[in-house]
Amino acid sequence: MTELADLAEGIRADPAAHRVLTGDRPTGPLHLGHYFGSLRNRVHLQRLGVEMFLVIPDYQVITDRDLADRLAEHTENLVVDYLATGIDADRATIFTHSSVPALNQLLLPFLSLVSVAELHRNPTVKDEIAHSSQAAVNGLMLTYPVHQAADILFCKAGLVPVGKDQLPHLEVARTVARRFNERYPHPDGTPVFPRPRALLSAAPLLLGTDGGKMSKSRGNSVPLAADEDTTARLLKGAKTDADRRITYDPVGRPEVSNLLLLAGLCQDRAPEELAEEIGDGGAAALKRTVTEAVNEHLRPIRARRAELAADRGHIRQVLRTGSERANAIADATLTEVRAVMGSL
Ligand code: ATP
Ligand code: MG
Repeated sequence: MTELADLAEGIRADPAAHRVLTGDRPTGPLHLGHYFGSLRNRVHLQRLGVEMFLVIPDYQVITDRDLADRLAEHTENLVVDYLATGIDADRATIFTHSSVPALNQLLLPFLSLVSVAELHRNPTVKDEIAHSSQAAVNGLMLTYPVHQAADILFCKAGLVPVGKDQLPHLEVARTVARRFNERYPHPDGTPVFPRPRALLSAAPLLLGTDGGKMSKSRGNSVPLAADEDTTARLLKGAKTDADRRITYDPVGRPEVSNLLLLAGLCQDRAPEELAEEIGDGGAAALKRTVTEAVNEHLRPIRARRAELAADRGHIRQVLRTGSERANAIADATLTEVRAVMGSL
């Protein structure tokens, strides 16, 4: 795992050497956790000149539910959020993974490289199973980190800006790449796949209003698209603690510290300094500060969002173009994979 500041110089020197892939499940509106956990880094990376791939993994929706509810709507809204936060659609490849057959075919050889015991040990999968509403764990849930390895490796991405919950999956992608390269090198010995690295932000695990990981599916999120009053209401309901004196102590006071971090990220200020300022004002003053900070920071993004959302034809065109580009790359990678495996 790495942070952007450590990489910026190397990327600036040779942006073409860095290819980035990341994405979000089309399960609902993007929230502050996505924005500060990954989206902002994506925009910074694109501005540094890297080639950006954004996958909308629609098959992953049916890992923890029976049906993919309002799939087209959620997919289009993700694209709206990407563009509103600053992703440049002319330079990024945005696509759904179900529209790229060759990407999905990579799953077959990749699954043979991972043991069932390894699949069962993945801590993020265990957590998602615990939060799933399904009576039984389906096979796609257990294998989706390998599917995600295909999402990353089909375009040979080297860098993946993600939240902390994704670190075990990045390990799976690294393992798959290493084992594939060992088992099936090119005749001259060169590896087929790079070993991708996770890029964490300053907020690798933003908490939701209930104190757990902010998630689209857990009813604890503040959506980017929410209006200012809804944002105020949601943040007012956020869990805090009984101590009136506000201090920044992420281990001892995770919920209060999370709100301080959030306000700090919006205002580009240290959370300790904000805590000092609020002093004995208690949770009410803290929540007022956070609400103002979030609403102010998101105001221009929300305005752009409203404009973009009105032109669905453009959003669908972005996905069509992205899918074409992704298919060309996936076909080339699959041809290479079939060649090193000795397929006719
Ligand atoms: P779902 O509840 O449907 O799983 P989610 O909110 O967990 O939705 P994902 O689509 O699973 O969102 O995750 C997309 C990306 O956003 C991943 O890189 C993930 O690590 C990151 N992310 C999600 N939630 C947070 C969070 N609370 N803090 C930081 N990063 C997050
Ligand atoms: Mg998730």
